[in-house]
Amino acid sequence: QPLIELRDVDKAYGNVTALTGVSLQVRAGAITCVLGDNGAGKSTLIKIVSGLHGHDAGSLLVDGEETRFASPREALNRGIATVYQDLAVVPLMPVWRNFFLGSEPRRGRGPLARLDVDAMRRTTRDALARLGITLRDVDQPIGTLSGGERQCVAIARAVHFGARVLVLDEPTAALGVKQSGMVLKHVATARDQGLGVVLITHNPHHAYLVGDRFVLLKRGEMAGSHARDAISLDE
Ligand code: ADP
Ligand code: ADP
Repeated sequence: QPLIELRDVDKAYGNVTALTGVSLQVRAGAITCVLGDNGAGKSTLIKIVSGLHGHDAGSLLVDGEETRFASPREALNRGIATVYQDLAVVPLMPVWRNFFLGSEPRRGRGPLARLDVDAMRRTTRDALARLGITLRDVDQPIGTLSGGERQCVAIARAVHFGARVLVLDEPTAALGVKQSGMVLKHVATARDQGLGVVLITHNPHHAYLVGDRFVLLKRGEMAGSHARDAISLDE
């Protein structure tokens, strides 16, 4: 059973149609890529899955159960974590501190000052290592990391705090070839560890490097939906 399924979903903003009849599945241990040009409806799709927008028609199923999220927090509580392109980080704060930002209330702990800083450093290092991410130093200000490294920290953070589905909004859009490769490698590791991934991208090459399923949107409509085997380049 898919972790997430959209069935025939419509969404409009006033009289602007953003999505019509969109269907897709996100399975554990698989990367579903959503491809499309600007205006195709990719952001709208992310917002529905991550609890920022409701849909007008069709169904959103999570673990087979019809669902409508009232907030991003609800989606997160169901294990759906969205990593946006413009990451919310505090540039001058150390990596480990950014890693724990916003996590305190969920973990039911007291004031941050009373948390064990060494434990948080260690936890951050371990969470990065779990995805094979190597950082020189978790004490450096997060603003000194490359864009790709920041994406990796955000992905490791989502996994550490219990994501079952990673929704990645154009994670490589602002990155060069090497940085993109690094991020995609760690996304594939998360997939190999059993997470479901929705990878939104306008870059078909990046999608093909790691994707298992491909959904192509054109002006809010499904222009294609294929399993990887169906478009294999091998003879
Ligand atoms: P299964 O859904 O059992 O894993 P396939 O992956 O082979 O089987 O896909 C079966 C059908 O679903 C195919 O017609 C394919 O085009 C379509 N499909 C592939 N990927 C997706 C997706 N992400 N969302 C919806 N349908 C898809
Ligand atoms: P993409 O992320 O693929 O660029 P979007 O989901 O942002 O596509 O946009 C799909 C369509 O919905 C476009 O025609 C866009 O102009 C429109 N749209 C997106 N957000 C809004 C909004 N808040 N109000 C009105 N129209 C919107």
